[in-house]
Order: sequence, then C-alpha cells, then structure tokens
Amino acid sequence: MRSGWIRIRKFKLLIICAVCIGLSMEPSATLAEHQMKQQQHSSTIQSQESTACQAQTAIRQDRPKSLSELRRSYSETFKFKGPEVKQVALTFDDVPDPRFTPQILEALSKQGVRATFFVVGHRVKKHPDLLRRIHLEGHVIGNHSYSHPQFSNKSVIQFQKEIQRTEDIIAELIGYRPRLIRPPYGEITENQVRWAKQHGYKLVNWNVDSLDWKGLNKEKVKQNVLNAAGPGSIILMHGGGGTGSNLAGSIEALPDIIHELQAKGYQFVTLPELLDVSQSK
Ligand SMILES: [Zn+2]
Repeated sequence: MRSGWIRIRKFKLLIICAVCIGLSMEPSATLAEHQMKQQQHSSTIQSQESTACQAQTAIRQDRPKSLSELRRSYSETFKFKGPEVKQVALTFDDVPDPRFTPQILEALSKQGVRATFFVVGHRVKKHPDLLRRIHLEGHVIGNHSYSHPQFSNKSVIQFQKEIQRTEDIIAELIGYRPRLIRPPYGEITENQVRWAKQHGYKLVNWNVDSLDWKGLNKEKVKQNVLNAAGPGSIILMHGGGGTGSNLAGSIEALPDIIHELQAKGYQFVTLPELLDVSQSK
C-alpha cells in the first residue's frame, strides 16, 4: 500500500514537473483529474513538487545558451550577417601567415576589393610587417584572440586577456584598437558576450563558410561560397593556417568568387561598412 502510494507520488511529480517546465507532454483528462484529487490530500507534497519544479527550471536556465540563442539575445553585439542589401563582406581568419596572406592581398588588390582580416596576436608578433601591409592596403583588422583557444572552455577573465593582449599589439603597430572580434571556431559563452557588449565590441561570425581550411580545391571553394552567398552575407575564408595547411584552392578561387558575385550586382565591402560600425573602438 505504502509503496503503491510512493509510486503514485513519484509519477505525479514527474507529470506536474513536465507541465511546469513546458515540455510538450500533456496529461490526459483522467490523469489531470487524478492529480487534482491527489493535490487535495497533502500540502507537503505540493511544496516538494514546487521545489522539484523550481530545481528543474533552474537546471534549464543554467544550460549554456547555444550560439543561435546568443545571437538572438544579443543581436546588437553578436552578428553573423549584415542587412538585406546587395553587399557582401569577405573575411579572412588566422592571419597573418607569410605563406598565404601576401597572395590574398595581391588577389584583392588586383580586383580592387577591400576585406576584413581577423588576426591572431601571437602571429602578429612574429610578422608585424604583414599586419602593417594589410592595414596600409586599406583592409580592416579584427581581433581573433592571442593564442586561438576555444573560448567556450575559458573564463571571462581569460577571454578578456586574450582580446586585450592582442589589441595592445595591434594598436602599437597600426594605431587603433579593433571593434570587431571573431571568436576562434565561432565559439563563445554568454558571460563573454556580455563582457564584449559592455566594452563596446562587436562579435562577428559568418553565414557563408568556404570550408577552405580543409585544403579544398578551387572549384569546391567556389561552390561553397557561391551556392550560399546572398544579400548581406559574411563570407568566412582563411588567410593563414597550421602546419601542412594548403589554401591554394582558396587563393585561386578568389578572383572567380569576386567576378561572379559582382556580375550578380553585389558590392564587396568591409565588415564595418556592412554592419555600419566603426573599425576602431
Ligand atoms: Zn581561427
């Protein structure tokens, strides 16, 4: 008898909690009636249920927000595309890298296109002249951390240090602190987004991924970009890589990508132009 009653209690608790936390489970009329009768029996049980429901809700609230939830909650700070206009922005990550960045700069210069380069602090320290060159050729610099960690595994303090260390190096070389940050792998936590918002940064991911870091050939890189690009697109490409990286396909694809999108009426702009923000803080 007692164990039967405990089973009912547990079952009831589950059902009410499911309703309480908004799961799609709906009790039948019979179960609802059963619940109402049971509720009249004990206020102690009610308070236990309430505590259990609160705990469930707290667990739900503690679950880290996904990137798309963060983009929705912080839409003014966390961008992945621009407005629906006939403009697109090329962005190059993991820069500077003497194996690839100069070739990208030459391709862009030939086409008369300006882009946005997300630089890694420790690479800038090794190749300061390349950073100056990117800047002098009219491109925009964004911050891509100092050591390229996955920020979702880092604290707000560690995030802040990575950003500030890199911007100190950039500011010394080209005289401004970038407003734009691209988190490595596009990963970031809510507390880091909040810190970025409070300090006037814009976080910028992408909505078109060339997947060029995989060492794809020219045709594949072209397809990945041209099949997905549209009004306000932010296109992710790479201007640097790790040991053994091969961005030849990406560099070869660049003139065709530019010509084909221009032929469709798109204008290539920098991220500050696309998002209507200043390049510096
Ligand atoms: Zn990166």
